[in-house]
Amino acid sequence: MASREPGTLIVGAGQASVSLAAALRDAGHDGPVTIVGEERLPPYERPPLSKGYLAGHRDEASLVIRSREWLAERGVALLTDERVTALDRDEMGGVATTASGQRLDFARLVLATGAAARTLPVPGADLEDVLAIRTLVDADRLAAALRADGPLVVIGGGFLGLEVAAVAREIGREVTVVEVTDRLLARAVSPALSDFFRAAHERRGVRVLLGASVVRILGVDGHVAGVELQGGDVLRASTVVVSIGSAPRVELAAHLGLALDGGVVVDEFALGSDRVTVAVGDCACVPQFFGRGLPGLVRPESVQHATDHGRSAAATLLGQPTAYRAVPWFWSDQGDLRLQIVGLVAGADHTVVRGDPGTEAFSLLHYRDGLLVAAECVGSAADHLVVKRGLEKGLTIEPGAAADTGVPLKRLLSPPAQGSADR
Ligand SMILES: Cc1cc2nc3c(=O)[nH]c(=O)nc-3n(C[C@H](O)[C@H](O)[C@H](O)COP(=O)(O)OP(=O)(O)OC[C@H]3O[C@@H](n4cnc5c(N)ncnc54)[C@H](O)[C@@H]3O)c2cc1C
Repeated sequence: MASREPGTLIVGAGQASVSLAAALRDAGHDGPVTIVGEERLPPYERPPLSKGYLAGHRDEASLVIRSREWLAERGVALLTDERVTALDRDEMGGVATTASGQRLDFARLVLATGAAARTLPVPGADLEDVLAIRTLVDADRLAAALRADGPLVVIGGGFLGLEVAAVAREIGREVTVVEVTDRLLARAVSPALSDFFRAAHERRGVRVLLGASVVRILGVDGHVAGVELQGGDVLRASTVVVSIGSAPRVELAAHLGLALDGGVVVDEFALGSDRVTVAVGDCACVPQFFGRGLPGLVRPESVQHATDHGRSAAATLLGQPTAYRAVPWFWSDQGDLRLQIVGLVAGADHTVVRGDPGTEAFSLLHYRDGLLVAAECVGSAADHLVVKRGLEKGLTIEPGAAADTGVPLKRLLSPPAQGSADR
């Protein structure tokens, strides 16, 4: 049966979709809005899945971003446990078909389908104790596995892998992180910060292997027994976590014939290549707007981006398109260490260290052509906030003065000299 009055259909019930739906209502839009999600819960926060929830400090209910009641009060229809399997478009909108056979008419379509954990293409990756971390179901399985005995091997030294490693160490597991590149967090942070986190995790008892490639996961009776590395070394393991990045969920976009390039290609107004479908959050790649000279399209994966991109796309749907220009920021809790990043580190040509990394509370301020472009702050929330506000207002901090912790950073914010290059 088709829904009666076609409105906005949002496929995917996550951070980006709930932000978009809320922004539509906040702006006074009173047309029908429906969110369809294949998971059991209403839109929920993923960050705690590899942190507080995994450690047992948060419960399921606390993860929910907006409850069913909250959405219902605002007239947003929510279908959960329901996957959109096909889309048919016409000039008036289209119709979505779900796995259970429901047909949902829409006037405007939003793809907010997120991403999936990438799988490791090696023999043994399908063994029972080889786990991923993307969904609540993954986190529940992993939480149970972490409470068992035996060594844990985490494949992938990115944010999520290290967060899981930190929780596992706190629980008392023997943990080895295997990373194929020559440093941790290589995709996202400066080399100096990679070195800091390697040492910090090692101090907490995590074994870190860099430049190590997994060729096979060994099993006995269907269960993990070890991880074989290129070169023949075998690491003993009873649990393996594969955390090697995510792949955008683009099945539906491909079906619609939308341009794809490591995600659904959208313009600065979140419109896909057909100029009518909107795509937001982790599934979409957006034009680079911050970070002069860096690659043209990026697929930021963060709560900040999903939230801001959702809001920006709502303005497009409301006929008030505004170019998406949010300053990127991110956080990661690695056990007791909180990292906060604002701006883009890639492309920086000079770094100022503020504070002593030996105290595990310090900031790295990154510059390009003398202009502040990013900060990586460990245990320094105040510095993070100052730089975030500064970048949002187009301000900078004189590099020669930034290292002096005796002077509050906010006192150093100033407009860039006339004629300075854009960020
Ligand atoms: C374990 C973990 C920890 C993280 N930690 C941090 C952090 O510390 N800081 C930070 O800034 N960011 C963090 N992130 C990233 C952040 O959570 C994501 O960037 C954000 O959730 C993206 O939101 P989204 O709405 O685009 O996608 P998602 O939250 O993935 O939501 C998309 C939803 O769409 C559903 N879906 C897909 N296809 C269909 C379909 N055909 N029909 C119906 N439903 C469909 C999916 O099942 C999913 O529920 C973390 C992510 C993970 C996985």
